[in-house]
Amino acid sequence: MTTTVVHEYIHTRQINDHGSGVEWMREAVAEYYGAGLEYEAGVMSVPKYGYYLTRAA
Ligand SMILES: [Zn+2]
Repeated sequence: MTTTVVHEYIHTRQINDHGSGVEWMREAVAEYYGAGLEYEAGVMSVPKYGYYLTRAA
């Protein structure tokens, strides 16, 4: 799981008018891009990022 700060930051950049049926997608996108940002910033290690992309749900 990405850090709360990064996850919430991603939410501030998302459009919020898609309706309640796609809430799971908003969360998945926040996690995916949050992990990418943490990896690129050097906060998340390569093994953790690889594990995150292949195992995290
Ligand atoms: Zn969220």
